[in-house]
Amino acid sequence: MAIKLVEAGFDDITIYEKSDGVGGTWRANSYPGAACDVPSHLYSYSFAPKKNWTRKFANQPEILSYFEEITDRYDLRHRIRFGVEVTAASFDEEVAAWTLTFADGVTAAADVVICGLGQLNRPFTPTIPGLETFDGDVFHSAEWRHDLDLSGRDIAVVGNGASSVQFVPPVVAEAAHVTLFQRSANWILPKNDREFSAREHRILERIPGAERGFRWWIYWRLELNFLLMRRNSRFGAFVQKMASKELTKLVSDRLPAEALIPDYPPGCKRILISNDYYPALLAPTTDVEVSPIDHVTAAGVVTADGAEHPADTIIFGTGFRTTEFLAPMEVAGRGGRSLNEVWANGAHAHLGVAVSGFPNFFMLYGPNTNLGHNSIIFMIEAQARYITHAVRELRDDRLAWIDVRPDVMDRYNSKLQRAADGTVWVAECDSWYKNSHGVVTNNWPAFTVSYWKRMRSYRPHEFLRRGRS
Ligand code: NAP
Repeated sequence: MAIKLVEAGFDDITIYEKSDGVGGTWRANSYPGAACDVPSHLYSYSFAPKKNWTRKFANQPEILSYFEEITDRYDLRHRIRFGVEVTAASFDEEVAAWTLTFADGVTAAADVVICGLGQLNRPFTPTIPGLETFDGDVFHSAEWRHDLDLSGRDIAVVGNGASSVQFVPPVVAEAAHVTLFQRSANWILPKNDREFSAREHRILERIPGAERGFRWWIYWRLELNFLLMRRNSRFGAFVQKMASKELTKLVSDRLPAEALIPDYPPGCKRILISNDYYPALLAPTTDVEVSPIDHVTAAGVVTADGAEHPADTIIFGTGFRTTEFLAPMEVAGRGGRSLNEVWANGAHAHLGVAVSGFPNFFMLYGPNTNLGHNSIIFMIEAQARYITHAVRELRDDRLAWIDVRPDVMDRYNSKLQRAADGTVWVAECDSWYKNSHGVVTNNWPAFTVSYWKRMRSYRPHEFLRRGRS
């Protein structure tokens, strides 16, 4: 976003960042095995390709160093204020300016506020009776304790989502014993991953258009996976049948069908990819527990069936607070209206980037822009381009503020929710794609190419425009 604004001629840009470095999720999630499940040539900026990714699905350190390198290449560091947490933002209509308040009480003014907080930045740890009495180490996958040596430990892992599927194999390799507490099974497909050869690197680096062609090939291949996300999709039924057949071969007394085969269609929750997860579950030192956790004692975890599972370490791979979006930041728009109130029944926005009543306020990776089938970087680039158009309009037309019209936002969201009703996400499964009312607040319910097309045209008539007095 900052790169695009600088390119559009804006210079007075400050980036406030809570942590001490760039990278966001790729900085926070440094657990063993962390990698991206979207091929790296697509999980990178279209305007800053990296031709020498070491493997198809890069590991976290390589992804983080890509973002750090981009920060330096585009000379962004002097614009970033690290270690600054924004706790509140309020709009003053009189002066058409936002006031940002930081955790230390200091404030700053801004004409335009753009939030790039992501949907997965606040770790979620469930409240379990007795957890405070546990006599060992407890941590969340997004706050990995690299200072702890896990070798020889007796580890309880809670949760089996995208993060756990990546960290469980290395943890099993190190620990004396692992008990995986699993609430529901996931659809996990093979990961077509490997290192690139020197010859492939030469082709990607030297042949004009090779890297671009490879990127587009990955894009369209992933784009087709949206067919899986449609409710009652035949493609989905086929994948379900084939995957169930393979998983049935693994069923045993130690690993019952319930632990392996999901009871919901593929895509309802994120489809995971891994080659080492099932081997880790089959290891003699691993137990998969499907009875729900009842409570924790000083010495371990007790499940609802009364069984006690000794542990000296508990790792929560229980995901993030995903449907609260900008929380705990307090955002107040025109007339002091709170964004929390506007979103009481679920976060929603126009195109995922603007909310009516909150002028000159934009979001990246906001409501209904997450994907289950393609690269989020692609969506964020479309948003950055759109927001740049809007901010350019403010400058060029000498406007005090623009605010998306409520009827435009409502129409957009009615249509979007109708489309979401046609997806597999509304099927019977718990997922972070929807809020407690069952409203799909996180995902974009169509092909990404349609989002890209829509985001190419910034339509001024969709906004209320107030001129400078
Ligand atoms: P997640 O997908 O939300 O998984 C959380 C896990 O914790 C689920 O297995 C869930 O069970 C379980 N859980 C939650 N509350 C629980 C409770 N009270 N008791 C027992 N189990 C509980 O979280 P995540 O694995 O951190 O992944 C979140 C998202 O991050 C992913 O969907 C993905 O978008 C992103 N991610 C991406 C990558 C990548 O490669 N690009 C890697 C990691 C993460 P249920 O399923 O039964 O609810």
